Amino acid sequence: MTRVDHPERCSPLWPTAASKVVATIGYPVGHSMSPLLHQAAFDAMGLDWVSVAFAVAPGSAAQALSGVRALGIAGLSVTMPHKSDVASASDELSPLAQRLGAVNCVINRDGVLVGESTDGAGLLAALERSTGVAPAGRRCAVIGAGGAGRAAVAALADAGAVEVVVVNRTPANAEAAAALAGGVGRVGQPSSLSEAEIVIQATPTGMIASGAPGQQAMAAYLHEGQIVMDLVYVPTETPFMVAAAERGATTVGGIGMLVHQAALAIGHWTGESVPVGHMWEVAKSSLTARQES
Ligand code: NAP
Repeated sequence: MTRVDHPERCSPLWPTAASKVVATIGYPVGHSMSPLLHQAAFDAMGLDWVSVAFAVAPGSAAQALSGVRALGIAGLSVTMPHKSDVASASDELSPLAQRLGAVNCVINRDGVLVGESTDGAGLLAALERSTGVAPAGRRCAVIGAGGAGRAAVAALADAGAVEVVVVNRTPANAEAAAALAGGVGRVGQPSSLSEAEIVIQATPTGMIASGAPGQQAMAAYLHEGQIVMDLVYVPTETPFMVAAAERGATTVGGIGMLVHQAALAIGHWTGESVPVGHMWEVAKSSLTARQES
């Protein structure tokens, strides 16, 4: 693997034809922090790698994968709305990506595009790093049953949770998500949250500044002794986290999951150990700068 002498990229000749390229695809994609996090890691690792983003229109994920093959792009980070389309268009899927029907990371193995999902493992790593707590032997609840919610359900069950309750607006989606947890999964109601030791908030409602009405009602079931993790990372402290903290719960935001899922992707692409702590610092600085601007 080529290592650059000047990771700060001071050479006007950089990047070169020898530089390896990874890309983030999404729509929209301008807000994505993934290229920043990838580049921070590559630079710290001393690798001649470049991370860019492409706005790929909905329905065009398969063409984007053809482009990856043709251009020899080393890996993809995949975000909304392409995770399930990329699962369909990948050459191979990991068992987890197959089970979830979703891919957030593509690895180009000598022209064979392998779809992987690092969201769930990223969530668990962030949870453990932030709180020292792992789900094994614990009762868990997941609010939301979309891509992130399903990844959370599967990860918690696979990590040994004794119960994974899914609370979601659309019951059919909750059923499908709960099935990913096998025998420990079930559909619950907002009141089920009071019985959980770990609560994962996996809907986008945290981005509503005043908080979504349903979420505020759910917060009434939170209490001291629980860990409440909101996967939303802008704002860094969501109304649901504020309400949970007021009721005595320990709260965790979504930035750690973002960092860890990206770090796991970089590990797949490069095969090297990844400076997660450095990426976390870069992410926090960037979010602070965004909130101040
Ligand atoms: P998604 O696939 O669109 O799923 C959204 C889920 O939220 C669905 O279950 C939906 O319920 C529910 N929902 C949406 N709006 C709602 C509302 N107003 N009230 C109640 N429920 C609502 O989205 P996703 O990919 O799972 O992402 C969810 C959130 O997690 C996003 O904010 C995303 O940015 C965040 N995320 C963070 C990370 C990270 O690294 N921190 C990674 C992935 C995702 P229905 O089933 O009823 O439609």
